Amino acid sequence: MTLNFQTPDFIVERDIKKCINCRVCERQCANEVHSYDAEEDLMMADDAKCVNCHRCVLLCPTRALSIRRHPLEFREHPVWTGSTIKEIYKQAATGGILLTGMGTDKNFPVYWDNILLNASQVTNPSIDPLREPMELKTFLGRKPEQLNIKDGRLAEKMPPQLELEVPIMFAAMSFGSISLNAITSLARAAKEVGTYFNTGEGGLHKSLYEFGDNCIVQVASGRFGVHPEYLKAGKAIEIKVGQGAKPGIGGHLPGEKVGKQVSETRMIPEGTDAISPAPHHDIYSIEDLRQLIFALKEATNYEKPVSVKIAAVHNVAAIASGIARAGADIIAIDGIRGGTGATPLRTRDSVGIPIEFALAAVDSRLRAEGIRNQVSIVISGGIRNSSDVVKAIALGADAVYIGSAALIALGCHMCQTCYSGKCNWGIATQNPNLVKRLNPDIGARRAANLLKAWGHEIKELLGGMGINALESLRGNRLMLRGIGLTEKELNILGIKAAGE
Ligand code: SF4
Ligand code: SF4
Repeated sequence: MTLNFQTPDFIVERDIKKCINCRVCERQCANEVHSYDAEEDLMMADDAKCVNCHRCVLLCPTRALSIRRHPLEFREHPVWTGSTIKEIYKQAATGGILLTGMGTDKNFPVYWDNILLNASQVTNPSIDPLREPMELKTFLGRKPEQLNIKDGRLAEKMPPQLELEVPIMFAAMSFGSISLNAITSLARAAKEVGTYFNTGEGGLHKSLYEFGDNCIVQVASGRFGVHPEYLKAGKAIEIKVGQGAKPGIGGHLPGEKVGKQVSETRMIPEGTDAISPAPHHDIYSIEDLRQLIFALKEATNYEKPVSVKIAAVHNVAAIASGIARAGADIIAIDGIRGGTGATPLRTRDSVGIPIEFALAAVDSRLRAEGIRNQVSIVISGGIRNSSDVVKAIALGADAVYIGSAALIALGCHMCQTCYSGKCNWGIATQNPNLVKRLNPDIGARRAANLLKAWGHEIKELLGGMGINALESLRGNRLMLRGIGLTEKELNILGIKAAGE
């Protein structure tokens, strides 16, 4: 017998005085943690299989279950920590790369928490959003150098724009990485609130074409599900070059997740791995990117803005400048905290830079070059709440994408095992029995509620600053102050220290 060195991460505790052997936990756990021992008439738990998704704890009718960290700790060591040792055990046993899901759990600074917002006092009085109109409407796309008015109307035709009622969109998440019920929830919520969801690289399921007016269709390196009707279905097209959770590498959807519907939508054979290459095989320069941008514009009659999504990396400002000059209407930048369904652990945790620095650098560079009006900036990568959104807008973003926060609204409990396909909450899975657990009516309500709640809070924060339109906050870094930051960090962010 080969010795398995892995120790369980969690311990499942069952209060046998409360447990009624109803076996709900056994039926609810796709990881097969719970089982019933008929001889002993007892419920058993295999702790090693538990990923701490909370499903059994929340559905147990008698509140008999709790999960806690396994007490078997390694001796404290600053270098050879428990997780480092366990990772080596795992690789020594499998010979494979370590996979993980969602955004990095490394303790990188979240710079939003080191940035504080201003509020009006006495002069420039604050505005009460309950009594006075506040404008959150946002337009994404290329803006003209100047507006010429003739007979009270715009003299020239505006380039195509995306119109958002709140400056928040649902980030790219493909059908395949998440379930159809999860995407349907986001599509319905986007329509209700007046914003957009994004297909990711998985194509657009036929049932979602009716949400085309609230959809951004993605063209990624694998070109899965890309055809003329698809391009025409969305309100905008996004070329995915990179993403924050895996900069520089492609994607991989295992064959087990490629069932009939995913295979039809992606236009690949059922049961085959969907591997998107690291680069686009027709893009090796900014000129090549420009060709693809204009090929997509040509294919859609110049009626849709084209976005280019990149990961936040060291020279992001120069890359963004090239993308703007290549004719993109929107640049989407995904920071190191961005989530995903599956990514190599090492890439997720070691590649890229925080979105706060990337945003500040890109906005400053495009302004310095006089081309900021040519593109809108959308950022993502760990946006957690409405104040992150407001700080992002003040730092220079036009809007944000939310991915993990949207999935949490649907019921994700951040167990970080999306890559396994066994999401007990019906989100990151294609198992029909698990998918059913997410009711798209309820999912849509919850996702829409989240956006509405953040919208209310954004209005409160704006009102507190004496600002009645989001447009007036965009890039207004005077509304920000840094706390606990070095001189260098303040310089990169382009903000003053608290007290200055
Ligand atoms: S769901 Fe709760 S009550 Fe039912 S078997 Fe599991 S632990 Fe016992
Ligand atoms: S989507 Fe599902 S599998 Fe992924 S972290 Fe959330 S609960 Fe876990």
